[in-house]
Amino acid sequence: MRSFDYIRVDEIPAAISAGAKPETRFLAGGTTLLDLMKLNVERPASVVDITQLPGLDAIEVDDRVIRIGALAKMSKAADHPGIKDAAPVLSESLWRAASAQLRNMASIGGNLMQRTRCTYFRDPGAYANCNKRDPGSGCAAKSGINRNHAILGISDACIAVYPGDFAVALVAFDATVLVRGSVERRVPIDRFFLLPGTTPHLEHALAPGEMILAMEVPRSPALKRSHYLKVRDRASYEFATASAAVGVELADDGHTIRDVRIAVGGVATKPWRLHAVEAMLKGKRFDEATFRTAAAAAVKGARSSGHNAFKIELTPKVIARALMTAGDMA
Ligand code: SF4
Repeated sequence: MRSFDYIRVDEIPAAISAGAKPETRFLAGGTTLLDLMKLNVERPASVVDITQLPGLDAIEVDDRVIRIGALAKMSKAADHPGIKDAAPVLSESLWRAASAQLRNMASIGGNLMQRTRCTYFRDPGAYANCNKRDPGSGCAAKSGINRNHAILGISDACIAVYPGDFAVALVAFDATVLVRGSVERRVPIDRFFLLPGTTPHLEHALAPGEMILAMEVPRSPALKRSHYLKVRDRASYEFATASAAVGVELADDGHTIRDVRIAVGGVATKPWRLHAVEAMLKGKRFDEATFRTAAAAAVKGARSSGHNAFKIELTPKVIARALMTAGDMA
């Protein structure tokens, strides 16, 4: 048992000041942090309990934007009638994540901050080599069992997959993360997550002490006609082998693609937007053959590490199927 300081705060400035100290972690739902502390992966000197901060669990849907507070529970956001109507992809991505018990505990902000499920990362007792956990120690996954690892965005230092679902939907629809440290600022979601490069232990664009206040998702016709498809080894309580968050807006003729959004999960080191595939589809006819042709470009530059080679073939199929389903949701 390692000892640590437990600090409970009831206002945001106190949280930020406590959170700025070295080796400090914020505690919201605790569904990732406490697991990783028990596994001896996270070893904070202090834990700052932010569960009592007022106003951060609100969910608001207006004509322009969906705003979800960082302390809103996953289950509350998944079941919110306004989100289900304006943004099916957000509700579905939350609904298909974890178990009911976890969704009732886990916060939306914590969901963004969850860490990889790479087995070698999570088992320091058995595996010493993990650049994400201990920078410079190597990567056991590259020569180990890497079936669940990434094919996109990988580096020589790390091939771990970003494990979440909700963030994939946020990336597809240009969400913004509202954060506060010494000042309040907005971070476009695609810049919130960092590629591993030579520093896989750095995962987010947050400065020490900065905390997430909320996420904002602009409303659009493509968001209204959106879908999250998650392919996995079993039907529930499992991380994605490959997933796609997509949305489609059709022109008035009913078959020309006016707008399309695509991001994939389960296959990349961060939630992965596919701008090039979207550009190939805009102005084209909505049909499966068009989707299959364009989706093949999703894995351009993908690199397998051995056991995960099947993801190169699987990913375009998941994208095409997700788009067909979204198109049927008129
Ligand atoms: Fe660590 Fe990344 Fe290698 Fe997994 S893939 S062992 S997280 S460095």
